[in-house]
Order: sequence, then C-alpha cells, then structure tokens
Amino acid sequence: MQGMMMQMPLRVIEILDYAAAAHPGGEIVSVRTEGDLHRQSYRDTYARVAQLAHGLKDLGVGEGDRVATLAWNGYRHFELYYAVSGMGAVCHTINPRLSAEQMLYIIKHAGDRVLCLDLTFVPLVEALADHLPEGLVLVVMTDRSHMPDSDMGFLCYEDLLDEQATTFDWPLMDENAAAALCYTSGTTGNPKGALYSHRSTVLHAMFIAITLPKSLREGGRILPVVPMFHVNSWGLPYAAPMVGASLIMPGPKLDGPSLFELMESEGVTASWGVPTVWLGLRAEVEKRGTVPSKLDQLVIGGSAAPRAMIEFFEDRGLDVCHAWGMTEMSPVGTHGQLSEPMKDLPHDTRMRLKSKQGRRVFGVELKLNDEDGNRLPHDGKAVGELYVRGNAIISGYFDNAEATSQAFDREGWFGTGDVASIDGAGFLHIQDRSKDLIKSGGEWISSIDLENIAMAHPKVANCAVIAIKHPKWEERPLLVVVPKDDGPRLEEIHAMMQEHVAKWQLPDAMEFVEDLPLTATGKVSKMTLRKCFEGYELP
Ligand code: ADP
Repeated sequence: MQGMMMQMPLRVIEILDYAAAAHPGGEIVSVRTEGDLHRQSYRDTYARVAQLAHGLKDLGVGEGDRVATLAWNGYRHFELYYAVSGMGAVCHTINPRLSAEQMLYIIKHAGDRVLCLDLTFVPLVEALADHLPEGLVLVVMTDRSHMPDSDMGFLCYEDLLDEQATTFDWPLMDENAAAALCYTSGTTGNPKGALYSHRSTVLHAMFIAITLPKSLREGGRILPVVPMFHVNSWGLPYAAPMVGASLIMPGPKLDGPSLFELMESEGVTASWGVPTVWLGLRAEVEKRGTVPSKLDQLVIGGSAAPRAMIEFFEDRGLDVCHAWGMTEMSPVGTHGQLSEPMKDLPHDTRMRLKSKQGRRVFGVELKLNDEDGNRLPHDGKAVGELYVRGNAIISGYFDNAEATSQAFDREGWFGTGDVASIDGAGFLHIQDRSKDLIKSGGEWISSIDLENIAMAHPKVANCAVIAIKHPKWEERPLLVVVPKDDGPRLEEIHAMMQEHVAKWQLPDAMEFVEDLPLTATGKVSKMTLRKCFEGYELP
C-alpha cells in the first residue's frame, strides 16, 4: 500500500528561498579579497542569486552545464552555489591548492563551461592560459573597479548581475539531478569526482542540522574555516541558512591571529575546520590567555584530532566535537557529541570518548568488513575496513567506471579505505587510512594512536608517524616532529607511549623537521613525508 502524500522534489534553491523569508536576520559576513569586510542578509543574497542566474543564462549556461569556482569562502562564492544549482547547472568547486596538472585534469574531466575565480587566483589562471580548454568563459569575482589588467578576456562578476531581475523562475527539476561536483584530492592517481544531487545535498544539510544544534541554530554565527572548495565547507553553506544561522566567511586569511580577531569582532559562536588550522588558533589563545568570548563549539574533522588539542579547548570552556567524514559522503559521517548520560562521566572518560571519531549521524550506516568481506562485530575490539551506506553517499564516481568498480562491496556499500573499530555504544575509532597503517611483523601499528600520544608532549608542536621499510619487520614507525623550543627526547616520548601501547609498537626513531607537508585540503600529507624519508636508515 502506498502512502498518499505529495511528492515535491528536494531542491537546493529552496533552502535560500526559505532562509530569505524565514530568517531575515541571517546574514553572510565576508572578508573580501578586495580587503574590506562585507555584510549581506540572506534576503538580499537571494535577490542577487536570481540576478546571477540571469547573468549566467545570458552566457549560455543551461541545465547540466558545469560552472567551476576557484574561490575562498565569501558571499559571491555562496551566490554561485545557489544560482548555479538553482538554475539546474552543476557547481564545480576547484581546490586551488591542487597542482596545475591536477587542476587542468579536473577542469577538462568535468567539462567546465565557465570558471569563476577570486582576484587572488588571477595569476594562477593566467599561468594556465595556454592549456585551458577552448571556449572556457572566465569570470573574475569582483566589481569593475577592481578588475585586473589582463589580456585573458576576463568578464566581471558584478557586471553579470547588473540590471538583471531580482527574481528567477527556478526550474522544478528532478531531485536526483546533479547540483554540485567536488573532486577528491587524489593522493593516488587522478582526482575522482563526487557528483552530489539536489536530494543528497538537502538531506545532508538536514542530517547535520539535527546532529549539531549547538553550531546550527537560529541566531548562531558560524565561521567555516573549512574551505567551500573542500566538500562544500562540509555542508555549512546549506545547513546554516536552513536553520537561520549566519555565516562568517574568512576569505583567504586563515592564520590564528586573523581567525581570533574575526571570531571576536563578529561574535562567532561555532567554527569548523581541520586540525592543522586549530594549531594556529591554539597558539593565539595561549598568547592572549583567553578564547574568543562568544565561541561555544569547535568542530574538528578531516583528519584525527589529537586528544591534547581537544582537551586544550575543552579545558577553556569550549565544546569540541570531533567529526569524521569523506568527500564521497557529502561529507559528515560521524560526530563526537556525547549523549546526555555521558556528559556526567569523569573528565578522563569524556576526553577519551571525545578523542574517538564519534557516533554515526542520522542517515549514515556503518559496518566493518574483514578481508573476505564478512561483517565484524561492533564490540570495540574487532578491527576491519569501514564501509558506509546512506542517502548522501556516492553511488559511483563521476565518469570514472574504473574507480567506481573498485569502490563498493558485494552488498553495494561504499568502502572508505579507513581501518576502524566500533564499540558497543556506537563510537567509531579510526585506526588509520589503510595506506598509512604501519605493517610490522604481520601486525598493524596505528600511526594515529602514536601521534595522538606524542602530541601531548609540551615540546611537540606537531607530529606525524610514518612507515619506514625494514628488512626484518617489513615496516617500522618513524616519528617526525615539529619541535617546540629544543624539542622532546625520544625516551620521553617512549615513556609516554608505553602507558598506552605495546612495546613493539613504539617508534624506532625520531626526526625533527621545520614543518610538515600538507595536502591540498590542509591535512598532513603522509605520502609526501614518506617520500622525504625514502631510504631512511633506522638505527
Ligand atoms: P582528501 O583528504 O583525500 O581530500 P577527504 O577530505 O574526503 O579526502 O578525506 C577523507 C579521509 O580523511 C577519511 O577517509 C579519513 O581517512 C580521513 N579523516 C577524516 N576525518 C577524520 C577523523 N576525524 N579522524 C581520522 N581520519 C579522518
């Protein structure tokens, strides 16, 4: 028997249509590449989004066409999200930190027709000029007075909007139509495209809104440090207007002092980003002896948040939520919010729980497989490959049959490439990416666990553990440290680690470096680090 309910397609544009009417107080505050601070209500944004859609239509953009962006977090980037998806085209966010070769690959693979870029990226695009596909329309996201002097034939973003109507007849397309496209950073091989639909995008926004109400609430002021080119800022440009929270867009300046300043002056209540950016904020908090006054929640994800970092911010009154996810999952899969009864647990137990990757969000199912594809129990002990299923998870990679054929198990679940355990309360504990695990004498060593402990040493500013080839054991762990002051001694680190891990898991050696290499999404790049230490001789 069928239910008897109307069926309206879920569409991205409805979020902004709703926010403009229901949350007139909601705004987007942006640090602009032009250098000033800009404010705009969701209501005014909606009108400009309609103007932009007319402008793009005049350029010949039609349903299904890909419009690419090369931009920081700001209101014009937000407008592109909604205008492009709203008119039935596909918003393709490009990560400007990719190599030129990878960038060209994805522009061509995506079949982009228009590329909208921030002023900052004019030199980058000029350098690619000879290799860009013919006919690609280039739009600089600024006004006439700031247009660069260039012979690239750039169009001006504000000119596209000028004198256009402030309403648009948004098409009522199929909710499964593509809305946005984001490529993984492709640590091995070429980047692979996750093609989000209107349905998956709206559902994901709802999933995170119900999961993280401390961040996502009417009147909240959220600062997405995670870039809009990194999995759509983890869904914030959709979820924030949906609930009536304002977005404080930091533009290109993501260092500790700039973030602290902006958080303070704009009364930011929540901020989301990868662990490396919180190292900068942490240093600033230490310097000032206080956290930003209105800040209530930090969401840390994208790679493992060390316990020492979580504890640092928690001890200063912030709620830290450790989240896990992937580009292929829109991206949020799990969150570290504790359930009500857990909030009264002793401090140490709470910190231990918060250091795990948390429980699944509504709409995501998790399972662990052994090497033969059999399910493992969720008992906190069994360790296996993590598979996921849900309405905001890819069903294949965009135009990539080969990658698609390897991504799913026989039950159709998506393989994350992460190795994990799940305890009886549903807490996920990521041991490692399978390619970062250290295989020693037929056993595994979790690099994440070792890093987590080393990070608690007062003379460790940052660290990473990588596998070094070993004639007898196959691989052994090397600890690479960015030292604070004169740095720690290996024996001190061993003493700390021995309380938590077996002796054979201790790193064989330690090396100091000035900085750790980062991936395009701001995470520590273990692949690069392994290359740096290729041929390293363990003592
Ligand atoms: P990429 O880093 O390749 O651009 P993603 O941003 O999609 O791609 O990265 C997803 C991966 O990041 C996950 O599969 C996992 O290995 C890692 N990751 C994300 N969040 C966490 C976390 N909280 N703890 C540990 N690993 C994480």
